[in-house]
Amino acid sequence: MAETSWHNAHPARLEEQLDDGVVRCHLSPRNCRIRPGQHGFCMVRANRDGRLVSLNYGRSVHATEETIETEAVFHYAPGARILSMGNVGCMLNCDYCHNWKTSQARYIDAKDVYHYTPEQVVDIAKRHGIKVISWTYNDPVVWHEFVVETARLAQQAGITNLYKSAFFISSEAIEELIPVIDIFSVSIKSLDPAYYRKITKGWLEPVLEGTEQVFRAGRHVEVSTLMVTDLSDDEKTARAMAEFVGERLSPQVPTHFVRFHPDYKMTNTIRTPVDRLEHARRIALGMGLQHVYLGNVYDTDSTTTSCHSCGAVQVTRYGLNAHTVGLTSDGLCSTCRTDAHFTLFTETDRRTAVSTLPEPALDVASFSWHGDVRAVHVQVSNASSQTETIYQRRFGDPEVPESWSAILLQPGESFRFIAAKSTPEELGVKVAVPKGCTSSLHEVFDRAHFPTVEAGADSGNSDVTPLPAFVPLAR
Ligand code: SF4
Repeated sequence: MAETSWHNAHPARLEEQLDDGVVRCHLSPRNCRIRPGQHGFCMVRANRDGRLVSLNYGRSVHATEETIETEAVFHYAPGARILSMGNVGCMLNCDYCHNWKTSQARYIDAKDVYHYTPEQVVDIAKRHGIKVISWTYNDPVVWHEFVVETARLAQQAGITNLYKSAFFISSEAIEELIPVIDIFSVSIKSLDPAYYRKITKGWLEPVLEGTEQVFRAGRHVEVSTLMVTDLSDDEKTARAMAEFVGERLSPQVPTHFVRFHPDYKMTNTIRTPVDRLEHARRIALGMGLQHVYLGNVYDTDSTTTSCHSCGAVQVTRYGLNAHTVGLTSDGLCSTCRTDAHFTLFTETDRRTAVSTLPEPALDVASFSWHGDVRAVHVQVSNASSQTETIYQRRFGDPEVPESWSAILLQPGESFRFIAAKSTPEELGVKVAVPKGCTSSLHEVFDRAHFPTVEAGADSGNSDVTPLPAFVPLAR
């Protein structure tokens, strides 16, 4: 259930008690010094009666099933379903943030905030056969206590944990993450210290040092950078990124150059021209990186994995969908047996598929891909007192069988999942729900975006952003 208030305090870690009831927070490099009754930069950690508290423990946007490609992770279980968890607040304030409705606590709408316990998160993943929990969206740094506790519980249940972050985080906090997080997907905003200060309100070196720290600890690391039109989509950024990855990490670390869209305070510009991204990729490959990809792009080979030794195709991708076609089960090239630097696991809990819907007739909603909107979050709720089954399928591609995939919902359960365009010919997605269940659709604009705006079914054929317009609050 959505809550009307998320201002409940939970004891926070990484606290330093100073004189006169003042506390210092050591979670991010800001090290905020917080007086009683005040909060830190992120607005979700505060001083209550001389103690540091977390205000967003368990406060989350709706848990959402997505695929691992959503998180700029290409070399770990391609195509795996993940359970994405995002909260409210952030230790940065990037001018272009595409999750600003949830990352900037002052703009949060109570209808978008849900309350989960660690046990509930793990239970959702287990019941839906999801093997990876992803800590993502706004940024997981600022709900550290909830992440660490839930990730530990998930680990005990055999679930992998993925941390997708801008990684402006202290070394001490990283030490608490390393035992419970398997995959780190780090978004490095730029390699220019002045850019960091101006655009993100953070600073660069802790991000680079933190990325090295988790890489040296042996965790699976992938890095990405958002190529902002006319700001950071140039050759200089590509060279600096390749230099960092090649020299301070390893040329084998997958690196993603990600397409930007105008958002938040940065709307007077255009999406990154794809030829600039392709150029950046060529630069990085030419400097010796072995796995360089583009993000938020379609219909390009730059999302395909080919063997860096023999050139054979190993994984094909379209949007947020992936198909492994040329890897052995232990991550070698099927053609030449060279190490492809993959960790693989097989999903055993596939959903049941049916060719026709059961009787009595279900309510069917249809959503057509349009313009740049090629993914949608589908939220389904079961208001009845019995377990119900809802169905979804893609339509429009004559090469793909139009079978319905079944999802079981417990009494009272609300579940959210992504449906992303999976072939160039596909036209859209359909959702069928029985009496007593409801569905709603939310257009997704680029990956790792948590949409807060509900869309109508059968949306028109325009290429308009579905994102809420930014209106500064009056001071
Ligand atoms: S997490 Fe960072 S921004 Fe938030 S209170 Fe702690 S030091 Fe400040």
